[in-house]
Formats: sequence, structure tokens, C-alpha cells
Amino acid sequence: MNFQGFNFDENVRTYLQELDSSKKLPHALLIEGADAQKASELAVFLSMYAVCSAENGKPCGVCKNCQNAKSKAHADVTYVELEKDKKQYTVDQMRRIGRDAYIIPNEADAKVYIFEQADTRFAKQDVAQNAFLKLAEEPPRNVVFILLCQSAQALLPTILSRFTIIRTGGEKQTDADVAAAAEAIVGGILDSREYPLLKALTALGDKEKAPDILEAVRRCLRDALAILSGGDTLGSREQANQLAGRLTRVKMIEMMELCSDAALKIKQNANINLLTTWLCGEFRRIIWQR
Ligand SMILES: [Zn+2]
Repeated sequence: MNFQGFNFDENVRTYLQELDSSKKLPHALLIEGADAQKASELAVFLSMYAVCSAENGKPCGVCKNCQNAKSKAHADVTYVELEKDKKQYTVDQMRRIGRDAYIIPNEADAKVYIFEQADTRFAKQDVAQNAFLKLAEEPPRNVVFILLCQSAQALLPTILSRFTIIRTGGEKQTDADVAAAAEAIVGGILDSREYPLLKALTALGDKEKAPDILEAVRRCLRDALAILSGGDTLGSREQANQLAGRLTRVKMIEMMELCSDAALKIKQNANINLLTTWLCGEFRRIIWQR
């Protein structure tokens, strides 16, 4: 792999090297990072890698495919724009991309579709996300889908579980209290007794921090999903590994949805005692159900 002209963080480089040594770019990649510039550079790099005509050391940076991809002018690299007067992606648009993906590439051996600001453009568009998911699950050969987002929270867990996630970083640091509270909750989820979870959930009584705590729990679940999908995790690896060893994919997705529901209920001023009891019951129901 040739990083010349690109300035990626060490962890991203290491991860890309791993992908490279497997000689096959995953066909569904999700780049998550608060720094849009960094994420965009990585998308350009990956598009060059996918279309480069060099034998080794891709992307060579000098072949015609590389140069066109670098200047975002390659016939087989599509930056999926919004349709006229639309603020989000639509189902029809996803279906059209589906048809287009089956047309063989013009110049390269691969086709790449890049979805910038995927979190906002897909937010609350479950139908469009599902149409896209169907496509990304069984893509035509040599087609690569790259989603870019600041936070993958807006995307359906089913998408997250199918995509290889690369984090470019730049997120605001999680506050230590929030991280500790989230860790205690995940610890509670993993504990066979009820009390530790119930006790850990009382941290949600701090309404200021509750959404961040739930997001941190969700992130840990997402990391666990990524582990099961063979994807990347740069976060809380130890707990995520434990979750991955303990929960099925379906259970993780249910728990991620549960975190989002709980965050919504807190926003709507739910009684915190009732909420923690309910949440504790739901987590345990999901763990123990067959
Ligand atoms: Zn090249």
C-alpha cells in the first residue's frame, strides 16, 4: 500500500495495511470521523486504491485511474449527490444506483460509490437505508460502497453490522465520568446478577450526561458488532470483546435500539426511576431470551 501524498493517523494506516494484506478491499466501508476533511481524504484514497491499474503498491498515484480518482473525476467513481430539491437520499435514488451498479465499469476494473454526509442524508430515512442495505448486502462484483459520516449513530444498526467501520478520529473526547458510567452499565449487562446493572443505570439520573452515557454504551455495542463482522474497533476493545463473546448480532442490535429509545424517553422527561427499572428489565430480557 502506498500512502504517498496522504497523511493518515497511525491507527488508520495500520488498519489499511491489514486490509491490503488480505488483498481484497471490503465492498462496504463506513468511514466515521468528526473531521470531515480527514474522512474525505480517506475516501479519495480508497477510491484510488480500488481503481488503480498498478500491480503492486496501490494506489500508485501516477496511473490515469489514480489521477482521475484523485481529482474526483473518474468515470467509475460516483459521489452520490442529492437529487434536485431534496435534502436527503431517496428510495428511488437507491434503486437507480442499484441498477447502475450492475453496468460494467468504463475505465477501471471496479466501481466505487461514495456517500458523503451519510448520517444526515440518511437520517430517519429507514426506507432509503433499507433499499441501500439490500444493495450493499449483495453487491455486484467489484463494486465498493463507501459511506462517510461524523457519527454512525443516525444509521440503522443493520447497516453498521454489515459495514467495515474505519474511524478517522477527531471526535470530542468522552468525559471521564461519562466513560466510567458507560463502562459500569456495560459491566452490568455482562453481569449475571441484576443489582450491578440497576445500580449502574442510576447514573442516567444526571439528565445532562444521560444522552452521552447512552451513546457511549451504544458505541461499545457497535464495537462489539464490528468485532463480529470482522471490522475495526478503535474504542473500548476489552468490553466490546466480552460483549462479542456473549451476545449474538441480533441481541446487540436490539440493545443499540434500546439505548436510542431510552435517550428519547429521557428527552421527553420520563421518570428516571421508572426508566432505569424498565431499561434494566429490557437489557436482561434481551440477554436471556433464546
Ligand atoms: Zn494507480
